[in-house]
Amino acid sequence: MTDRGVLVLGGGVAGLAAALSLACMGFEVTVVERERALGGRAAGYACKATDRCLHCGVCLVSDLQDELASATVNLRTGAVLEELAGQAGDFRATVAGTVLKVGAVVVATGMDPAPATGWPDLGYGRREGVLTASELESRLRREGVVDARRVAFVQCVGSRNPAWGRGYCSEVCCPYALRLGLSLIAQQPGLEVTVFYNDLQTGGSDLAGVYEQAGRKLRLLQGVPARAEAGPDGIEVRYESVPDAVLRRESFDLLVLSTGIWPRADAAALARLLGINLDASGFYAARPGESWRSSRPGIYLAGCCQKPRGIAASVAHGRAAAAAVAAGRLEVTGV
Ligand SMILES: Cc1cc2nc3c(=O)[nH]c(=O)nc-3n(C[C@H](O)[C@H](O)[C@H](O)COP(=O)(O)OP(=O)(O)OC[C@H]3O[C@@H](n4cnc5c(N)ncnc54)[C@H](O)[C@@H]3O)c2cc1C
Ligand code: SF4
Ligand code: SF4
Repeated sequence: MTDRGVLVLGGGVAGLAAALSLACMGFEVTVVERERALGGRAAGYACKATDRCLHCGVCLVSDLQDELASATVNLRTGAVLEELAGQAGDFRATVAGTVLKVGAVVVATGMDPAPATGWPDLGYGRREGVLTASELESRLRREGVVDARRVAFVQCVGSRNPAWGRGYCSEVCCPYALRLGLSLIAQQPGLEVTVFYNDLQTGGSDLAGVYEQAGRKLRLLQGVPARAEAGPDGIEVRYESVPDAVLRRESFDLLVLSTGIWPRADAAALARLLGINLDASGFYAARPGESWRSSRPGIYLAGCCQKPRGIAASVAHGRAAAAAVAAGRLEVTGV
C-alpha cells in the first residue's frame, strides 16, 4: 500500500534513526543514501574518551548500524532522488530510474562543515600549523600524537556572524573542541591547550562533566582572534581579551579552527525538487513549533538538514520525524 511506504533521504544518524523507528511501527521503509556507506558525517569521528567516556555520541553510529542489521529496511546506497510527483499519502519517487510509491518522505540529508578557507586572516591554507578541528582529529587518528606544545582552538569560525549570513550558533563546536582538547591532553600530558571563545555553548545534560574537566585542564579565554601571522615563536595571534578589554598577542604551535555547521551546498536544489521551503540561513524550513514538519504536507525533516544538532539530538529528531509520519498517516487515511 502506498501510504505504508516511506522514503528516507539520507543514511546519516538522523535518517537511520527515523528509518528504524518507522520499520518498528510496520512501515515499508526505503533509505536512499548518496554515498556508498551509511552513517553520515558522524561515522568518521573518533572516540574522545580520556580516562572516562566524554559522551561525544559517536557510539550511537555503531548502535544504529547494529540495529539496522536485524531490521527490515530497504537500502539504496550510491543513489539519489531524481523526481518526486504526487502528494501526501500518494507520492511517486524516482530513484535510479525506479519509481517507488510512498506515502511520505523524510528528508535527512544533513549538513556541510563551514569552509575554513573563508577566513584568510586566520591563515588557513597559508600558514603551516593552521588546521580545522576535523583535520586535527584525522591527524590524531593517523599519527596518534601532534608535534606541538601549545595548541589553541578558535571558536565560532563560520558561525554567529550575521555578516556572513550565519547568525546562528552551530551548537556542536564548543563541546567538540573541549572534548578534543581534553582527549589531546590525556594522550600528551605536557600539552597546553587554550580555547578562545565568544560564549561557551553549555546545553545538554551530558556536558556537565566535560565543562567541569575543561575548566580544570584547559585555558579558556574569552575573546576570539581576528588575525594570525607567522611570528618569531610560532603562529602569533592577536585578540581582544573580553573581560579586561585589552589587546593581546600570543604564540602557538597549532591553531585549530572550530568550524561550525552550514546547510549543504545542494540544499536549495533539493528543496526545489521536493517543493519545500528554505529558512533564512538556508536550512530546510520547519513549521513553527514542529521542527520535523517541512512546509509541504507529507514531507518531514530529520537532523542537521533542519538546523545544527549534535548526534544524540539528531537521533532524537529522526525518531520525532518518524512519530510525525505515523501521526500524519492517521490524518491522511483516517485510520
Ligand atoms: C567538525 C564537526 C564535528 C562534530 N563532532 C560532533 C561530536 O563529537 N558529537 C556530536 O554529537 N556531534 C558532532 N557533530 C555534529 C554531527 O556531525 C551531526 O550531529 C550529525 O552528523 C547529524 O547527522 P545527520 O544524519 O543529520 O547528517 P549527516 O551526518 O550529514 O548525514 C546526512 C547523510 O545524507 C546523505 N545525503 C546528502 N544528500 C543526499 C541526497 N540528496 N540523497 C541521499 N542522501 C543524501 C549524506 O551522504 C549523509 O550520509 C560534529 C559536526 C562537525 C561539523
Ligand atoms: S560516547 Fe564517545 S567518548 Fe564515550 S565511549 Fe562512545 S565514542 Fe567514546
Ligand atoms: S557551539 Fe560554540 S563555537 Fe560553535 S557557534 Fe556556538 S558558541 Fe560558537
